[in-house]
Amino acid sequence: MTNYPDIELYIDGRWKRASGVPVINPADESVLGTVPTATKSDLDDALAAAERGFAIWRKTSPAKRSQIILKAAGLIRQRVDDMATAMTLEQGKPIEQARLEILRGCDIIEWDATEGLRLYGRVIPSEEGIRHTVLRQPIGPVAAFSPWNFPMSSPARKVAGALSSGCSIILKASEETPAGAVQLVRAFHDAGLPPGVLNLVFGNPAEISSYLIPQSSIRLITFTGSIPVGKSLAEMAGRYMKPVIMELGGHAPVIVCDDVDPLTTATASVTGKSRNAGQVCVSPTRFFVQESIYQKFADSFAEKASQLRVGNGLDPKMQMGPLANSRRIDAMEAFVADAKSKGARVLAGGSRIGNRGYFFPLTVLADVPDDARVMSEEPFGPLALVNPVRDLDEAIEKANSLPYGLAGYAFTRSAGNADRLANEVEVGNLSINHFVASLAETPFGGVKDSGYGREGGTEGLQGYTVAKNVSHKMIPP
Ligand code: NAD
Repeated sequence: MTNYPDIELYIDGRWKRASGVPVINPADESVLGTVPTATKSDLDDALAAAERGFAIWRKTSPAKRSQIILKAAGLIRQRVDDMATAMTLEQGKPIEQARLEILRGCDIIEWDATEGLRLYGRVIPSEEGIRHTVLRQPIGPVAAFSPWNFPMSSPARKVAGALSSGCSIILKASEETPAGAVQLVRAFHDAGLPPGVLNLVFGNPAEISSYLIPQSSIRLITFTGSIPVGKSLAEMAGRYMKPVIMELGGHAPVIVCDDVDPLTTATASVTGKSRNAGQVCVSPTRFFVQESIYQKFADSFAEKASQLRVGNGLDPKMQMGPLANSRRIDAMEAFVADAKSKGARVLAGGSRIGNRGYFFPLTVLADVPDDARVMSEEPFGPLALVNPVRDLDEAIEKANSLPYGLAGYAFTRSAGNADRLANEVEVGNLSINHFVASLAETPFGGVKDSGYGREGGTEGLQGYTVAKNVSHKMIPP
């Protein structure tokens, strides 16, 4: 298929073809290509390459490392149109969102590349004749696992974090949306990255993670995906005393106070919820709206949601593409049926569009009882749950009532409310009066079951380092 690249493994600076499983276009269920399955011997090659790559890369000057990484980002910027088309083909999101994801991935790579120049240690004041110096050293070869919802920017975060800190990496990207990672890796190859520093594999996720994590050469695990898988990988990493960065699921609350305009807030909410068809760990999901503006908010949310143009993401007029796979359709149908049976009202959407391609409309459910499954299980799709609350106390209590704690949102003009929300909402990322949850320069990650460790910002790079204290007693002359 034109515009869809060959999908290959990348080990020790060389591309390798292999047989594997088909990649499906979610807009029409056609086959785009084949994603290769790595064998044990491929994984052994990748491990040996990552060790050799680390030995080279850690000794490469930070300035040279930064130059190569920035060059890769520049190549990606030149290739954004082709990459965006491949992403829409394999993942479904509208082409403009695919472009933005790739450009945002470049922002992340570039920010990390320059921050890598500033991974300073420190000198601790001490008694005369002794100097305590804290060095920030790269932790070592990283095993990274990235998901299908952000085929380029999620791997980019992991690759940029590792490489900018002086680590090598074996990336196992999503088998369902492999082109984003292949094109990312190709840019690093073309930018002159030494062999072994970056390796890319695909295959059976459970087999690969259970093979790589115990290996003594692997020093850090980073995973983005579901909470159950994250817990099982963290457990395995714990058995081998490996640190982990876990970016897991969320069930983001949105607190809408009665001092904001319900219509403009509802319009912004439709844009925020429809991004990537809601298949985003920070997607706004549980809307808690103060009673006096509840009806207006819910009605205009439903009206704007019904007006969204849903279709093939390659058509630039479309505002929402298909869901990425048939599992998400099954999940949406089950959540909606369960919520309706418990008394929720469907204000917009509610059932699959057509039967070829995985299209599902932005669905607004109102007055959703707490015992509806979707109130406590992450929908990871285009479902918005709108419920009234009396006051800020009740809103905060409901926002904090689940074991998730990734992103949260609030809309208010009151500095007093904003201060309370900042202190009391149990999330890693709170956005007030907008829906942007993370940027290259800000730390991103969760609390509670949503994970630990941070990606992005200074904290993100520090996760790929160890602080080593060197205590040096001077020998008198
Ligand atoms: P899933 O739990 O089967 O897989 C989630 C991700 O983990 C996939 O990318 C998969 O390839 C990977 N994976 C699965 N088992 C693995 C293993 N043993 N070792 C390494 N990687 C493994 O679910 P799914 O149907 O693919 O996705 C649906 C759920 O996943 C959603 O409900 C959502 O909670 C979660 N998810 C979260 C994110 C995120 O950004 N945090 C991204 C994608 C999926």
